Amino acid sequence: SLKCGIVGLPNVGKSTLFNCLSSAKAQAANFPFCTIEPNVGVITVPDERLTRLAEIVHPGRIVPATCEIVDIAGLVKGASKGEGLGNKFLGNIRETDAIIHVLRCFDDENITHVDGTIDPIRDKEIIDTELQLKDLETIEARLAKQQKVAAAGNKDAKVEVGVLTAYKEALEQGRNARTVQFDSKEEQKAAHDLFLLTAKPVLYVCNVDEAGAKGGNVYSARVEDIAREENAEVLVIAARTEEDIASLETYEDKQMFLDELGLEESGVNRLIKKAYALLDLETFITAGEMEVKAWTYRRGWKAPQCAGVIHTDFEKGFIRAEVIKYDDYIQYGSEAAVREAGKMGIEGKEYVVQDGDIMHFRFNV
Ligand code: GDP
Repeated sequence: SLKCGIVGLPNVGKSTLFNCLSSAKAQAANFPFCTIEPNVGVITVPDERLTRLAEIVHPGRIVPATCEIVDIAGLVKGASKGEGLGNKFLGNIRETDAIIHVLRCFDDENITHVDGTIDPIRDKEIIDTELQLKDLETIEARLAKQQKVAAAGNKDAKVEVGVLTAYKEALEQGRNARTVQFDSKEEQKAAHDLFLLTAKPVLYVCNVDEAGAKGGNVYSARVEDIAREENAEVLVIAARTEEDIASLETYEDKQMFLDELGLEESGVNRLIKKAYALLDLETFITAGEMEVKAWTYRRGWKAPQCAGVIHTDFEKGFIRAEVIKYDDYIQYGSEAAVREAGKMGIEGKEYVVQDGDIMHFRFNV
């Protein structure tokens, strides 16, 4: 399952955001959230299509995709040097696929800010710096080692030294590793295998107050400017308001509250969708009597690779895939009717799977 880490300075609203994710479980039976550890929760990826297909197929169960959310508290100035519980937390970030960086974009005299004033850009830079210092530490340790191996004539080590050097230069200039691009496959692999913190995709979440829930505010506008330069995604969320919404009993009450704020969808849904987009993730579906299930793959993957998401044997023995487009499934109302109408695709190894495809793999065992 996908794993996202929430980072940010103290008192910016991380726990509030985490809490509204966790109370989303009460929203509906098909929207469960369970807390594995105090700071780890699993949330299902909302997907209308599963429900609609289930109305046709009547499966034993619906299995949505999931996303694990880790609340990484304790990041402060000096964390990379082991200040507070910093180092342990930085270790937690290393294991995530993406980072949700929460920025305080609300005024409230009653809630102290660690640096006195509200300034999301400065806050972002404080966190970035800590992560960059940690990456530099990783790089320097690795560089010393790999330079020796490269000097002994190892080709892979030579490639890695090049990658490490490029990263080092960028980080020393205060840039995040994700701003560095590599051309060759070998370099890209070496870069990926370093698991640098600042190389991970990031989603900036501007935590605004209720007035900014729809259009944002002056603070979030500044974050959007910076993010545009970085090619990063931004989401404006009123975490405390969303927490209030999540605590409402009925779906209708929640919807009414969202309508009043001019929002079409809860922040939780928007957050998950952005995270998927950020990571280039899409969903294919299998629909059978036993279950209707969502599977996550990366945009651009071909049929055999997607088959491998279900089982490695499916990929190894791949013969072909039978593909039904979601809209056709809904329009014709059954798999048999789709077949009869000649709308079922028989696809080979080169087929690039599309979001929402209902897949049936044929394979040799
Ligand atoms: P964390 O330290 O980043 O986890 O921050 P918390 O989620 O604990 O939030 C710190 C305080 O700010 C709590 O008292 C929250 O209720 C409050 N808070 C969170 N979001 C908002 C907001 O949008 N507006 C206001 N006024 N307070 C908020």
